[in-house]
Formats: sequence, C-alpha cells, structure tokens
Amino acid sequence: MKKIIQHYGITLGIAAALMATSPGVLTSEHWDEVEIKPIPLGAGLYMLMGNGGNMGLSIGEDGTFIIDDQYAPLADKIQAAINSLSGNDLSGSSPRFLINTHWHGDHTGGNEHFGGGGTVIIAHENVREALKGEKTIPLFNMHKPPSPKAALPVITFSEEMSLHLNGDDLSLRHAPSAHTDGDALIVFNNANVIHMGDTFFNRMYPFIDVDSGGSIAGLIAAADQVLAIANDESKIIPGHGALANKADLQAYRDMLAEVESNIAELLKAGKSADEIVDEWPTADFDGAWANGFLTADVWVKIVVSSMQP
Ligand SMILES: [Zn+2]
Ligand SMILES: [Zn+2]
Repeated sequence: MKKIIQHYGITLGIAAALMATSPGVLTSEHWDEVEIKPIPLGAGLYMLMGNGGNMGLSIGEDGTFIIDDQYAPLADKIQAAINSLSGNDLSGSSPRFLINTHWHGDHTGGNEHFGGGGTVIIAHENVREALKGEKTIPLFNMHKPPSPKAALPVITFSEEMSLHLNGDDLSLRHAPSAHTDGDALIVFNNANVIHMGDTFFNRMYPFIDVDSGGSIAGLIAAADQVLAIANDESKIIPGHGALANKADLQAYRDMLAEVESNIAELLKAGKSADEIVDEWPTADFDGAWANGFLTADVWVKIVVSSMQP
C-alpha cells in the first residue's frame, strides 16, 4: 500500500510502514492541525517543533533569525510563532536570516516564503546546488524539481563561517559526507546551544541520504565534532526527536560506531546486504532505536550501501 502526497510540486510516495511513523510527512488536510511548539533554551533561543525537522529561533537586539523552516504550508504558523515570541506585531516582518542545515524538504520547505519576504538564506554551498537542481531520494520515491530563486541560499560557505548576532558568536561548521554532502552544524558559542540538523536523530535510527553523499562514517565524525566541544550543560537540537544533551549524543555516537563495526566485519566476510540483515547487526540496539521512522532492516541496508564504494 502506498500513499501519495503532493504539495508545492514535490511528490512523496512512501511505503505505509514508513508513513506511519515518519517524522515529517502529513496529508494536506492535516497541516491545519499542526501546532508550532516553542521550547525555551535561554538567551532568547528556542527550539521550535511542528512537523518536519526541528527548528531553531534566536530573538534579540539584532532581530530574529531561524534555523530551518519545515514545510511550506507551515510558513504562516512559523511566522506567527516568531511574532508572538518576539512581541513583534508587524505582521509579515520576516526573520533577518535563515540558516538551512541541509537541503531536504522537511527543513527547507518554507524557504520560498521566507526568502521571498526578504529573509537572507545561508547554507553550505552544496545545499544551494541541491536546491537549484533536481534531486531524488529513491528510498522515499521522492523527486524534487529545481527550487525557485527565492528559495535559494544567497550566502554560502564551504568549511566554516561565523555569524555575530544577538549577543552570540555562532560557528557554522560543515560536517562532510554525513546525512548529506551539505550538512551544517550550528554552534551558539555563548549560549552553549548546538543545532545538529539531521546529522543527529535522537533515539531513532537516522536516515542517511547516500544518493546525496551521506555516509555512516561522516555521521560518526559529525557526532565527534560536537562531542569535542560540548559539555554537560550543552543543549543539543537534533534534526528529529526531543531536545538532547551530551549524554544522548554520546549514546547515539556509540550506537552508530558499534553498528558500523558489526557491519564492517560482515562485509569483510563477503556477505551481501540481505545476508547482513539476516545476521541482525543491530540486535543490541533495536529496542531503543528502532522506534523511529526507519525499521532496523531498512536502516541496515542504508548503512551497508553507505559503506560500499
Ligand atoms: Zn529531516
Ligand atoms: Zn534530512
């Protein structure tokens, strides 16, 4: 059984098994029911949860800026949440900046709305390339046509860039070949808040977009980048799942590393992807991690494909 969803030119056909618990896909009549829930992180920062990837919001003396923007049908609700939290009654006054953690539609769907309203979009250079062109995610039978100009990042970086806004110094760091080829880790150095985009799924197996250059080795390296600078007080925003801390990220990193090592051994023994699934290399982890939107079988096959040349 397959369900087809269509909005702003993107067609998603996702197997019902994935559909049931997918962290970001709704039929259009359900958009009205989505609420944007703010989680205060101190220092004018919030994590915003609605439907799609978790967002970040900063409010301060320099104005407002956001990290990611979920889906186009939610843009007005996101703007309303920003207005209400910032006390800004100038309806339609767009955030100054929008940082995209990567190109996927559950993180960039509002780009055209915000970019068209004057928000300056910032992202890794590969995000601009991905949005400019056509993209497909075969696993989800998803095809994205070229995005309109208003949806494209106008400031891009390759390895690292800094922003100095609202009393904080932010580092945007590239995490190479992780969830995609264009992931940004966004570090609020003063507030001790880190947005990891989809390099971090908290307590669920992470999708890896191998067709966009993602890999499990890059995901582990992304977690290590953040573990090296985080402390026990750090607030870590995952792309999907609840607000996290360093211990949650460490558990995620340990899970990834053990599964990678289990699969590496099986690959070395010459096993095929199906044989590797049968060997159950995630046996120790399914109880805690297979409760998200990917089943263990599907996830193991994704990891295997990311480890093959
Ligand atoms: Zn996502
Ligand atoms: Zn993603």
